[in-house]
Amino acid sequence: MDIEALRSGDRGALARAITLLESSRAEDRPAAERLLRRAMPHTGRAIRIAISGAPGVGKSTFIEALGSRATDQGSRVAVLTIDPTSPCSGGSILGDKTRMTTLAANPRAFVRPSPSGRVLGGVARRTREAMLACEAAGFDHIIVETVGVGQSETQAAAMTDIFLLLLSPAAGDELQGLKRGIMESADIVVVNKCDGSLAAAAAAVAAEARRGLSLHKRRLAAWPVPVVLASSTEGSGIDEALGKIAEYRRLLESNGALGELRRRQARAWLWEETCAQLLAALGEDGAVDQALGEMARQVDEGELPASIAARELVAKFLGSAT
Ligand code: GDP
Repeated sequence: MDIEALRSGDRGALARAITLLESSRAEDRPAAERLLRRAMPHTGRAIRIAISGAPGVGKSTFIEALGSRATDQGSRVAVLTIDPTSPCSGGSILGDKTRMTTLAANPRAFVRPSPSGRVLGGVARRTREAMLACEAAGFDHIIVETVGVGQSETQAAAMTDIFLLLLSPAAGDELQGLKRGIMESADIVVVNKCDGSLAAAAAAVAAEARRGLSLHKRRLAAWPVPVVLASSTEGSGIDEALGKIAEYRRLLESNGALGELRRRQARAWLWEETCAQLLAALGEDGAVDQALGEMARQVDEGELPASIAARELVAKFLGSAT
């Protein structure tokens, strides 16, 4: 994979790079790692934004509107997703490639559909690495979209600078209330669908959000979390949301918080990856596999406590690894 093709900003080259990074074939990994090493010096300058909200709140419509406005202003916008694909049904919550068609057709934008099938190291690694590839390709707004259910918004927040929470009056209250804690991690709240017959209800949701936010201590003294009313279909409030994103990012940069945040995120990722890779190696280790049957029998029959069997398995693993 040619770093120059990626650096030229060619969207086809970027798509191929991400496919390489997503590959679950172990033999693709050396090329993927070579690419990442070369990409690293060209990363870090983009604004990384997580956008989360319950299904149906209007994420895809909002991102189309916001992304299009940003490209009109000269930015290049990439949209990635962390999709909590159900392991049972194999179905995806965020849906398939048909979303955000306007933005996907925009030459200054890049929309990557959720990966299907198994991804080596999990979806969060895929998204983090894809983000680096997008930055090396010159994209300056990276949007990580996720559904506000399960763990995916925590994963999205752990790799971005700004967490934007999308609410809407029409979405089921029980879904929005599902994760009340999510409100406390928002840097910007946008209440979508503030139009037509939903406008009054949207204003009420915004008032409730402001009340809720006022009960919590500010995470950044200089940043009262703004609540923006918007209509993604009519285009109102989109400029304001984009302005708040830029303003918050400037604040993080001016007081050194951005560097600190990213260092913390990189450290956490390092540890997460180390644990994940160790676990994978453990699962594939021949010596452990061989010993496991006998150990399991002894544990099953009450001859050995699991703690001792585990220590012996780990010793076998470490012995075979060295
Ligand atoms: P997602 O599941 O969160 O990505 O939501 P979508 O973007 O697919 O939107 C869900 C539905 O809400 C669609 O029928 C949209 O047309 C509608 N919708 C999205 N934004 C707005 C808006 O600003 N106003 C109104 N009235 N409807 C909207």
